[in-house]
Amino acid sequence: MKEQLLNDPVFGMAAGQFDRVADFLNLDQSVRERCKWPKRILTFSLPVHMDDGRTEVFFGYRVQHHLSRGPVKGGLRFHPKVNVGEVAALAMWMNWKCSLMGLPYGGGKGGITCDPSKLSMTEQERLTRRFAQEITPFIGPEIDVMAPDVGTNAQHMAWILDTYSTHAGRFVPEIITGKPVELQGSEGRTEATGHGVAFLVTRALDKLGLPVQGATAIVQGYGNVGSYAVETMEAFGMKVRGVSDVSGAIWNVNGINSDKLRAHVAKTGGVAGFKEAEPIDPDEVLLRECDVLVPAALERVITEKNAPNLRCRILAEAANGPTTQPADAVIEERGDIFLIPDVLCNAGGVTVSYFEWVQNLQRFSWTKTEVLTKLETKLNEAFENLLAFCDRNQCGTRLGALATGVDAVARVKKTRGLFP
Ligand code: GLU
Repeated sequence: MKEQLLNDPVFGMAAGQFDRVADFLNLDQSVRERCKWPKRILTFSLPVHMDDGRTEVFFGYRVQHHLSRGPVKGGLRFHPKVNVGEVAALAMWMNWKCSLMGLPYGGGKGGITCDPSKLSMTEQERLTRRFAQEITPFIGPEIDVMAPDVGTNAQHMAWILDTYSTHAGRFVPEIITGKPVELQGSEGRTEATGHGVAFLVTRALDKLGLPVQGATAIVQGYGNVGSYAVETMEAFGMKVRGVSDVSGAIWNVNGINSDKLRAHVAKTGGVAGFKEAEPIDPDEVLLRECDVLVPAALERVITEKNAPNLRCRILAEAANGPTTQPADAVIEERGDIFLIPDVLCNAGGVTVSYFEWVQNLQRFSWTKTEVLTKLETKLNEAFENLLAFCDRNQCGTRLGALATGVDAVARVKKTRGLFP
């Protein structure tokens, strides 16, 4: 299994990052191995009745990286390229993210290999419920709490909540986060990740002495995270000049109107064809000059090929794992790009998920303003702590963020003993 995981390029990348951090922290061999490998890797075959009468068998995964600091936490992804190595890498990143943010969770991630754009809503419902049913013995509010990720949203969470609650014989809102507000989801959860990205961008601009008003941005990806990052950066007075997604890329030097873009995407399914912008090449848009570049799609899009040609001052990693290790080395060597690493940059989502879980456990609810204010306080604290750590240790923000996360996990494992 170790070899199989290491053969996957995304897991190889997460493991490579971990090894670098473990060397930096001087972790002894026993704790190093225990931190690196996932505790549980679950694979499910999921037979589903399709609308045309066929039965199709999908594959689903859940990786629970470790349970030493509390239940595992992390999203469930629907994407045609999902595989166990990618899910294991994403689970490992969730670990360091939760630990960096001081959340009482280990990392988890799930995925179903499927193309949601080719499935009807009824097929998606049957697939989601089938997965929820198969995974029920392995999850729980104190064991594993799932949430949305690429290709899933509040509706998928509602189906999981309903399936789990039906099995339990009672309503169990604390089994899942990112659910609709009427099912005791949290105010502010939908926009939390994008809001957090935009907030951290303003903090980084401040550090660089650049004004937020009129600062320019380019966003790759227009899913939940990308769309709310665009909207919130615009609300903070920035100008989003370029946006891309699977349908293509668009450019408007005066800034793209986020309300109109959201309406266009709701109607057509993608950013391509938006009237108030010109089409441009999706690879080229990453290389245009801007203050802030926000990769908000999938892993490994900033590579050693495009990293030397980036023309941004800030790289805000809204996606998980968007920058390969060789690209990281190029960015470090260049020294002119302020990196907001993924485990901090997109931590707004899981932080508000934590707030949602806490509200559910207490049968209490906070207002959106309360939620977003608490989120900003937590992100700001983590951001300032990270910069202080990097200053003390003379290291970059990638290494600093991962080291902070890994160190806290390693300490817990050492203190608890061999079992967790
Ligand atoms: N899928 C999101 C992430 O990658 C959120 C996870 C959660 O809220 O548990 O951080």
